[in-house]
Amino acid sequence: MISQVFSHIEDNKEKYLDELKKLVKQPSISTKNQGITECAKMIQKLMKETGITTKLIPTSGHPIIYGELITSESAPTIIFYGHYDVQPPEPYELWHTEPFEPEVKNQRLYGRGVGDNKGQLLTHILAVRSYLETKGQLPVNVKFVFEGEEEIGSPHIAQFVKENKNLLKGDLVYISDGPLAPGDAPVVSLGNRGILSVQLSIKTANRDNHSGNRGGVIPNAAWELVTVLNSLKNEKNKVLIPEFYKDVIKPGSAELDLIQRLPFDSQKTAEAFYVDESDLEKENFYKKLTLEPVLNINGIVSGYTGEGTKTIIPCQASAKLDMRLVPDQDPEHIFHRLSEWVKKINPRTQVEMQGRYMYPSRTSPKLSAIQHITKSVEQVHNTKPLVYPSTGGSLPTYVWTKILNLPAVTVPYANSDEANHAPNENLKLDLFYKGIKTSCQVLDNLSLLKNH
Ligand SMILES: [Zn+2]
Repeated sequence: MISQVFSHIEDNKEKYLDELKKLVKQPSISTKNQGITECAKMIQKLMKETGITTKLIPTSGHPIIYGELITSESAPTIIFYGHYDVQPPEPYELWHTEPFEPEVKNQRLYGRGVGDNKGQLLTHILAVRSYLETKGQLPVNVKFVFEGEEEIGSPHIAQFVKENKNLLKGDLVYISDGPLAPGDAPVVSLGNRGILSVQLSIKTANRDNHSGNRGGVIPNAAWELVTVLNSLKNEKNKVLIPEFYKDVIKPGSAELDLIQRLPFDSQKTAEAFYVDESDLEKENFYKKLTLEPVLNINGIVSGYTGEGTKTIIPCQASAKLDMRLVPDQDPEHIFHRLSEWVKKINPRTQVEMQGRYMYPSRTSPKLSAIQHITKSVEQVHNTKPLVYPSTGGSLPTYVWTKILNLPAVTVPYANSDEANHAPNENLKLDLFYKGIKTSCQVLDNLSLLKNH
């Protein structure tokens, strides 16, 4: 009975909280390369004490902690992914506690990384520990991938996964990161939109010119950029880049059903989005936000924008754009089509990719593993979770679904006001323990998985 494991968790609350405090006390700021190895070693020690075999796998950046506990060749294998690096704590003056001196106040633990992601990562290890200490054996096999570069964009996770396909054989990837929905409603998320960021630039002269003395006889970079931008999308928001929609998979009835069930309050949403309610897409809100691609202009720069007038013809103009992509759109393919298209509209246009792109990812809600997980969350929270077929934002979940070809599911454990990346990051203790229980319940329920 899982209830024995749950009472074991109840009996060990103080001990488990101490483990979390120790972990938060150890800085592990990836962007400054501060405390990374020390933190990784600390987590490895915890895993070893639990009975998990572990090794540190180097990448060209920070190392990845790999762990496994194989119970039986015939049992399903769950891969837990998390990250042990944290965001820098600055600005210090806005913290009410020391970021690396974890402190409990009002039933919450405060400290950098407590929710993002150390507390959530730890729940999986402690779930395994509680299960083993109560029952002596896990009902499934578990593997762990804890990376040290999530907060700097996971630059090496895709390569790591490609190089370790054998090591990462399993049935499902389980991720706990991010917050619950407002009011701490439990959430299960089955995908992410991908992202491709580009910069378009146009240069028409070596310097700005007088708009009177030269206006009408030379090209204007700002107008040329506007024309190029205008060629990318029509007034109905349809993207005009050739083949942009070619690989889009239409959401199935299962996905659309899930969306129908999500709560939507247009007034509250408009408030949260800082827009007038009349400007909010109400009809297809979740569909447009999560299951359809979008092309955004992030910024435009050209000419003079200061006070008063400056009568010039700007010689250059540039815009930054991002595209949020859905399965099976291919960012690389779209980048090439976009480059050809804008060159055709205006051969002067320079196109540059910005940063790394991410593929979109989506796991089918129809899989029995997903139903087992949804059930697990419901059993612990005593309420049905909100199941999102995808979220609008971009995370590298594609490394699991596209490279490993496995289902991937995100079940966040932190409170909706965890203040991740911000001062006074905190984790509600109740949700920390619920997280441990949820992971236990997941281990238990997934043991029923057939045909894995
Ligand atoms: Zn983060």
